[in-house]
Amino acid sequence: MAAFQRAMIIDDDPVFGAFAEGLLEDSGIAHVRCTQSAQDVIDAIKHDGGPDLLMCDLNMPVQDGVTILRQLADLKFKGAVAIVSGEAPSVIATVAKLAKLQGLNILGGARKPLDADSLQQLLQSKLRPAYSAGATIGRDDLELSLRDHRVSPYFQAKVSAASGKVVSAEALARFTAHDGIIHGPASFIEVAEKGGLMAPLTTLMLERSVQAARTCLAMNQDLTFAVNVSPTLLYDLELPDRMADIVAAAGLQCSSFVLEITESDQLDVDAAALDVMTRLRIKGFGLSADDFGTGHSNIERLRDVPFTELKIDRSFVTNVLTDAFSRSCVESCVRFGRNLGVAVVAEGVETEETWACLREAGVDMGQGYHLHRPASQDDFIAFLSSQ
Ligand code: C2E
Ligand code: CA
Ligand code: CA
Repeated sequence: MAAFQRAMIIDDDPVFGAFAEGLLEDSGIAHVRCTQSAQDVIDAIKHDGGPDLLMCDLNMPVQDGVTILRQLADLKFKGAVAIVSGEAPSVIATVAKLAKLQGLNILGGARKPLDADSLQQLLQSKLRPAYSAGATIGRDDLELSLRDHRVSPYFQAKVSAASGKVVSAEALARFTAHDGIIHGPASFIEVAEKGGLMAPLTTLMLERSVQAARTCLAMNQDLTFAVNVSPTLLYDLELPDRMADIVAAAGLQCSSFVLEITESDQLDVDAAALDVMTRLRIKGFGLSADDFGTGHSNIERLRDVPFTELKIDRSFVTNVLTDAFSRSCVESCVRFGRNLGVAVVAEGVETEETWACLREAGVDMGQGYHLHRPASQDDFIAFLSSQ
């Protein structure tokens, strides 16, 4: 693929920058340069038109991606632009639309973590939608990988606002392909969902979390572990017993585990789902309303379901400093949590300023790149020990 000769990456995360640089070089681009400064890109454009491909992050501390893209449009930058960000697909899509309106040559967008396949797709097609869900893994490959433990959890800390200590960790599924590249859930959750593999995936994630919990206990670290549970599993009346058995077999208590009900806006609380969730609670599992605040009937659901935790969606957390609506959503969630006796977690905490604002608003826990990035079990344990 010799479509591009010269690429620049602008990203405030040097680790991601170096990683993306490697991917672009591997894709055959001869000259790749990574910078954290928009000025470097502007200087390059003024000097000789700049790179023919620019990979641009959105959330950066000095100047955000939207501001940078506006400046590049003002300079009539002709190169192709790929937006690669950890923001929600809807945000990436909106920025791509905006940049197109401003006259930039937008290739599309992809959500971090980036992998070689989704980069390839991004570079090859100009007609694709603005968000790359990443390479898709085949159903049978995924099934084998679940058996071979090529699917495993990364753990991301949840930090107490009161003590600043890690009090919990969320298990996030990762798939390691044969070439060693690690894929995030965007590449396989849909396949798992459609292919009837959510149950084995969730079982694996719980088993591995139980192991991690035991390792932590041996280090005198009494953490809770959170596992994501798709609403589609809540119709399986045997789920509570199966999950409780996994925990009991390791000599642990269900109260050390929280089940985060994902896509809770799609949760149709009928008798079967309520039966399953209530029995999970009775066994001691915590229940978390993930992505709280999105969808329309969330608040009503709080009345119906015995949740123990609300996880304020990242879209509100990201904008809490700048957007009055987001700020008031966060404050309402905190009030709700207090009144209902439910813990409130803010996810997607990316800066110290955001974290300070959330602590002031009264959230109980925070989770996000600023506090800890998802890491393999070994790296997570090392991080805990270093605290
Ligand atoms: P989620 O449950 O909302 O998990 C949080 C996602 O946000 C994770 O993405 C995490 O890596 C990312 N994240 C954490 N901190 C930050 C931050 O500060 N900024 C930004 N921009 N992102 C942050 P990941 O690992 O790609 O997971 C995506 C989703 O896939 C999860 O969203 C969850 O809904 C789903 N998922 C992951 N593992 C499982 C699983 O085992 N079972 C099920 N059913 N779903 C899973
Ligand atoms: Ca979650
Ligand atoms: Ca979420």
